[in-house]
Amino acid sequence: MKRIYNAANLPDAHIVAGFLASRGIRVRILNANAAGAIGEIPADAAAPQLWVEDARDEERAREAIADLHAQAEGPPRRCPACGEENPPAFDMCWSCGSGLER
Ligand SMILES: [Zn+2]
Repeated sequence: MKRIYNAANLPDAHIVAGFLASRGIRVRILNANAAGAIGEIPADAAAPQLWVEDARDEERAREAIADLHAQAEGPPRRCPACGEENPPAFDMCWSCGSGLER
């Protein structure tokens, strides 16, 4: 296990995790339930973190996150099936897996 990303919040963590999963990289979200503790412990420590299960995926995961952020231009794309907002780079909904129309 290797930490690769500090998410701004839980939805951000899920979006990045979903994007990595779509590239075949298995990650875990740690601290997912710590949001309620913000204010009691430093916000840094409470933010959700993504860890790759296999440390050999670290490099690929970092590149994928860089790609994701580089492509994150334009309006979010709303899933026609579940209504969830997806980053513009996504072809599949991170929440339900439905295809997103261009
Ligand atoms: Zn959806």
